[in-house]
Amino acid sequence: MHIVVIGAGAFGAWAAHHLHTARFKVTLVDAYGPANARASSGDESRIIRCGYGPDAIYSTWARRSLGQWRALFDRVGRHQVPLFHQCGVLWLASGDDAYTRATLATLERDGHVVERLDRTSLETRFPHITAEEDVGLFEAECGVLMARRAVQLLVADLTTRGVDLVRAHVMSPDPAPRLAHVQTADGRRLAADAFVFACGPWLPKVFPALLSGRIRPTRQVVIYFGVPPGDARFGPEGTPAWVDFPAGIYGVPDLEQRGLKVGVDRHGPPFDPDHDDRVADMGSIETARQWLARRMPMMSGAPVNETRVCQYENTANGDFLIDRHPELENVWIAGGGSGHGFKHAPAVGEHVAALVQGAAPPEPRFTLAAKGTQPQRSVY
Ligand SMILES: Cc1cc2nc3c(=O)[nH]c(=O)nc-3n(C[C@H](O)[C@H](O)[C@H](O)COP(=O)(O)OP(=O)(O)OC[C@H]3O[C@@H](n4cnc5c(N)ncnc54)[C@H](O)[C@@H]3O)c2cc1C
Repeated sequence: MHIVVIGAGAFGAWAAHHLHTARFKVTLVDAYGPANARASSGDESRIIRCGYGPDAIYSTWARRSLGQWRALFDRVGRHQVPLFHQCGVLWLASGDDAYTRATLATLERDGHVVERLDRTSLETRFPHITAEEDVGLFEAECGVLMARRAVQLLVADLTTRGVDLVRAHVMSPDPAPRLAHVQTADGRRLAADAFVFACGPWLPKVFPALLSGRIRPTRQVVIYFGVPPGDARFGPEGTPAWVDFPAGIYGVPDLEQRGLKVGVDRHGPPFDPDHDDRVADMGSIETARQWLARRMPMMSGAPVNETRVCQYENTANGDFLIDRHPELENVWIAGGGSGHGFKHAPAVGEHVAALVQGAAPPEPRFTLAAKGTQPQRSVY
């Protein structure tokens, strides 16, 4: 059986991996190439954490995925500059915050590695981070994946194992009960028995009638700030990845000498992944600067080394969309990463492969039927 996977970002690449492992013939197609600069998976780094409030399914998928990322890097990434930095993830939020309490309860109940740090231990462990809360959570086994290189490594490995990689822009399929092939913009036909569309923020363009309003791409800015000279504290040995939920700011230590990365998690304006420019706005830079001045005063006034504009592909509440197309019986859709999907890509790919084989039922939360159109974010 032959499967065409459209989209070589994190979701499509891992779907291709698991389908290939299940002995399908797989063709992986991408309009701009694996983890390209427009793709949501194309930035340098992505945080992997297991803390997800009460949503145990994401905690479980994150842990399972971390094992698969690490196995990939051990198998084919050993000679590379590290692709996973186990710097830990620090969750900054006050102890009376309900989401934080639920996170701790879920992680402890399900046997995840998590430490509750009170203010004194926060200050002792990370003296260059101003502790404002009475409690923080620290996930020592988690950290940061080098996103772009990790996806490109996986795709390169897939091609050595027999997966065909095709550069082509796949057009929206015609309505039909069963798809025999997809058409590319340059007139080629790619025939297969089944198709997986893992087109990230492009999914509403590919299936406008079905997904407009159900997946909304928004403009998101990350800023890399230059660290002080001769000071290693902001690298992964001294600084964890962090998430400051109340402030809507997250960040990653100075990896590969690019600078301390600060991201603004608030949803930005609507974004077109093909045509919009990716130039950071001063408002986002200022928001990041203010956060640094408050929480990492040694980085106050640090210069901007680089910026990146990426896009979230948001479902209404942040849950993924992984389901069969309601009208095309041999077409599956995997997307809706909603600003937190990268880490889970191995588990997403595994679930896609199980669905295609009829080996697992759809996860109710990830079905199309569960997708609203009124934005009300509850998964982060
Ligand atoms: C600023 C930012 C920070 C984030 N931080 C984190 C984080 O810390 N941790 C985390 O886990 N997640 C994070 N995410 C979310 C995560 O990056 C995404 O959920 C994930 O990368 C989505 O992967 P994807 O494969 O679905 O989409 P993409 O990576 O966008 O891949 C889709 C691919 O499909 C291709 N494509 C689209 N249409 C077509 C077509 N018609 N024909 C052929 N090819 C096509 C595109 O070229 C693209 O390569 C963040 C996202 C952003 C933007």
